[in-house]
Amino acid sequence: MEINKKRFRDFDSYMKLKFNKKIIKLPLDGGFTCPNRDGRLSSDGCIFCSESGSGEWTYGKKSLHNQIVYQKARLSKAGRDEAYLAYFQNFTNTYGPIDKLRKIYYGVLEEENIIGLAIATRADCLNDEVLDLLEELSKKTFLIVELGMQSVNDRTLKLINRGYDHGDFDSGIRKLHTRKIKTLVHLIIGLPYENIDDYKKAINYINEIRPWGIKIHNLYIEKDTRLEKFYRDNDLSYDMTEDFYVDTIVEILTHLDKDIVINRLTGDGLRDAIAYPSRAKNKGKILTKIDKMLKEKDLRQGDLWKEN
Ligand code: SF4
Repeated sequence: MEINKKRFRDFDSYMKLKFNKKIIKLPLDGGFTCPNRDGRLSSDGCIFCSESGSGEWTYGKKSLHNQIVYQKARLSKAGRDEAYLAYFQNFTNTYGPIDKLRKIYYGVLEEENIIGLAIATRADCLNDEVLDLLEELSKKTFLIVELGMQSVNDRTLKLINRGYDHGDFDSGIRKLHTRKIKTLVHLIIGLPYENIDDYKKAINYINEIRPWGIKIHNLYIEKDTRLEKFYRDNDLSYDMTEDFYVDTIVEILTHLDKDIVINRLTGDGLRDAIAYPSRAKNKGKILTKIDKMLKEKDLRQGDLWKEN
């Protein structure tokens, strides 16, 4: 079986080695909301949150079975040996009655060729009942819990209105790790007023806490969003160049623990919705540049990482 020849531990290769076939994540809408959107913490949401609760690739509020059928048809390749991970992507997928959570998580595992679950949520939405259920699931299936860290800088977290500070994030992820549940941390490069020092702090933290995986997103600004308004109101211009982004990703990868699985190295927004920068619409080009720089400089994930 062909394994991608990446210079970092990529998700695709990890899953191919583990399951002996191509594993595709099916983005699903579990019909949740978010405490940062329903008024419990705020009605505004995180500054970059879209109408769909950061789930641009889901298929709306259809039955989970229909969503799975739709996503399989969209993402499958005829003749390829493949299976699927049910990915509860948008809003906060542990924010609901425990009976509902149990029903939908176990329900999708009954669908054909679903080998596990990826559940995106907030680190402040992990009560003991939820943790018990996640631990139970992690013993029965392949489970990843995805957490939107975005930054370790509390000033930034306030600015983006995430609704809880880094200390709360740390406490949530540690609860998952105590129960041996795989976690995946999201990090954004390019948030307003952040610089390379913030990214280094984030990577040091990630190396210390050791999630199973990370996703790195380049900040892009969608049309008619609060983020676009924030840039306008504060007279900010979007000044992160493609070269800076590529350099930063290479810096991050070389300083990252070799075992951490890289699930994403750039954002994945809808082309028509992106206002700035237009290059964010060309994900493939950015990824090619990252691969090229790693090869030219003969660098790999973890080359400059020192285990404590
Ligand atoms: S936590 Fe997620 S769903 Fe909630 S407001 Fe932030 S981005 Fe949106």
